[in-house]
Amino acid sequence: MSDAKVIPIADQRGLLAIPSAAGPTPEHGPLLDALGRPLRDLRISVTDRCNFRCSYCMPKEVFDKHYEFLPHADLLSFEEITRLARVFAAQGVQKLRLTGGEPLLRRHIETLIEMLAQLRTPEGLPLDLTLTTNGSLLKKKAQALKDAGLQRITVSLDGLDDAQFQRMNDVGFPVGEVLDGIAAAQAVGLGPIKVNMVVKRGTNEDQILPMARHFRGTGIILRFIEYMDVGASNGWQMAEVLPSREVLALLQSEFPMQALEASAPGETAERWTYADGGGEIGLISSVSKAFCGDCNRARLSTEGRLFMCLFAHQGADLRGLLRGSADDSALGQALRGLWSQRTDRYSQLRSSGQTEGTPAQRRVEMHYIGG
Ligand code: SAM
Ligand code: SF4
Ligand code: SF4
Repeated sequence: MSDAKVIPIADQRGLLAIPSAAGPTPEHGPLLDALGRPLRDLRISVTDRCNFRCSYCMPKEVFDKHYEFLPHADLLSFEEITRLARVFAAQGVQKLRLTGGEPLLRRHIETLIEMLAQLRTPEGLPLDLTLTTNGSLLKKKAQALKDAGLQRITVSLDGLDDAQFQRMNDVGFPVGEVLDGIAAAQAVGLGPIKVNMVVKRGTNEDQILPMARHFRGTGIILRFIEYMDVGASNGWQMAEVLPSREVLALLQSEFPMQALEASAPGETAERWTYADGGGEIGLISSVSKAFCGDCNRARLSTEGRLFMCLFAHQGADLRGLLRGSADDSALGQALRGLWSQRTDRYSQLRSSGQTEGTPAQRRVEMHYIGG
């Protein structure tokens, strides 16, 4: 018998039926879901692999040498990703974010960026093209990413204390190399750079003020993310969530802060500035203040499944359509059918105590659908 990890992959990767092209969805007009939310933002996971093992995302005990990552043939090719992104753009998507796993591990990622940078909205505008990375390969790749047409970048960094950071990424990766990657991205003009810090109570809350002091006045936007109950393997507990209001109170204990207006509908971060002009920070309160009401994000998994919520347990197999006989018009119609039936609002339901719809053990993992 194989000693492969027994993870309910079939369940996690269950399929969502694609409404038939002959369904009731009109072919034209603004695409809104069942709760009136448009589709604006597509996050594309380009690999399910990562060189880090952050305990809140890919804990070592689960994602060990026995874990079966997707074989290369199952991944969407760059041509397939670009074709789908074009169909999404035709249906209203204005922003593409490449993610993973660790997107910079996907070979020749800059080729994909070049292809995506050519896409236009129906109004003829380029799409907002960005990427989220753990920063480990950024020093080496920043220039190539910029040259390929990437506009800006988000780097994840959970603290500045080297020993603590090495424990959090759980592969002993030094913080200095991530900081070098951020400096390289800044030097080539991949800005404005955002730095995402996941805050876990009892693990790295002592890094909130050092991180704020470090990035103040640099033009880099530091964003504090509440530790979320994504996936089925991180052993999430509410006790480990440090609500954004506590993060803000801590920041205010040292720096006077002023609230800013949201820059776009569906913005995940609440924006604040340092009153002395030291720059902007963001608070992403995914747990304590659900923002499902204007959630306009869809996620495309590494193997081409469309997930319409971070907490979904079923995705729609767009790769099957791509590799079958569907033309772009049929793909667009399938997307309209799927999005128009969307009712997802997991965080809102969690806040009101109703989470029965998505049992934790059946949720997809974040590295597979992308953060
Ligand atoms: N590997 C890349 C990185 O870490 O930036 C991209 C993929 S990662 C899944 C995307 C984002 O999700 C990262 O900013 C990461 O910190 C965040 N993330 C992962 N698990 C999380 C969790 N349980 N709660 C909150 N954020 C999480
Ligand atoms: Fe890898 Fe990013 Fe997940 Fe950390 S958060 S394990 S870097 S995919
Ligand atoms: Fe969007 Fe789902 Fe997150 Fe709500 S829980 S904000 S619907 S991804």
